[in-house]
Amino acid sequence: LQGASIKNLEASSNGNGRVAAVKLEDGSTVEADTVIIGIGSKPAVGPFERVGLNTDVGGIQVDGQFRTNIPGIFAVGDVAAFPLKIYNRISRVEHVDHARRSAQHCVKALLSAQSSTYDYLPYFYSRVFEYEGSTRKVWWQFFGDNVGETVEIGNFDPKIATFWIESGKLKGVLVESGSPEEFKLLPELARRQPPIDKAKLQNASSVEEALDIARGSLQAAV
Ligand SMILES: Cc1cc2nc3c(=O)[nH]c(=O)nc-3n(C[C@H](O)[C@H](O)[C@H](O)COP(=O)(O)OP(=O)(O)OC[C@H]3O[C@@H](n4cnc5c(N)ncnc54)[C@H](O)[C@@H]3O)c2cc1C
Repeated sequence: LQGASIKNLEASSNGNGRVAAVKLEDGSTVEADTVIIGIGSKPAVGPFERVGLNTDVGGIQVDGQFRTNIPGIFAVGDVAAFPLKIYNRISRVEHVDHARRSAQHCVKALLSAQSSTYDYLPYFYSRVFEYEGSTRKVWWQFFGDNVGETVEIGNFDPKIATFWIESGKLKGVLVESGSPEEFKLLPELARRQPPIDKAKLQNASSVEEALDIARGSLQAAV
């Protein structure tokens, strides 16, 4: 339901204090017993105005080596609005992988003659519900750009995958409960963005089959 606006939440009639449904602005109703609020976050950059802020994506504006416009001041991690080379746009990435890599890149540039531009492939992962007693852990990896249309394959029994396709090209891919080999394929797909047959992908009966189709699209693109 991309782009839908919520009008209000409706409480359960049995008085247990739980939500029962979500009313949308278009008049439709979605039954729900849990609502997860994902509203994003904004870095608190007020004190750093003089360093140079980016008003489009928020954060502190830096170049491909994480230099701000004041010599000797650098910004890395969540707060850095940096040139995301692969997509040719300024971006902020909120993830520990980027936090570590951006810091490494910045320090290397400082301590050596390295002058290369940071070339990051967006990567997100999470490992939740792995606590003791959990009947089903949920662990996923995403590589690439979450733009365009999505094709979702599978369910949580045993795993799921989502593919983002724009202008006929595979732009991003998420796999939950993947094998090490499957996870290894994801950055290659996201980096190379092969043309992909959306209808074929939609007809895949399993995550494995969908990933085989994606792997095949890489070979076809050679
Ligand atoms: C709820 C939640 C879940 C997340 N889950 C995941 C996950 O599953 N996997 C994953 O990889 N990433 C996850 N992240 C993102 C990850 O935590 C961040 O990308 C990462 O911590 C960024 O590191 P950082 O060093 O850039 O910033 P931070 O870790 O935010 O560190 C910035 C530090 O600067 C301090 N600070 C801020 N302003 C000032 C100031 N004016 N003066 C002095 N100090 C200041 C802050 O207190 C903070 O300690 C999650 C984040 C949140 C909020």
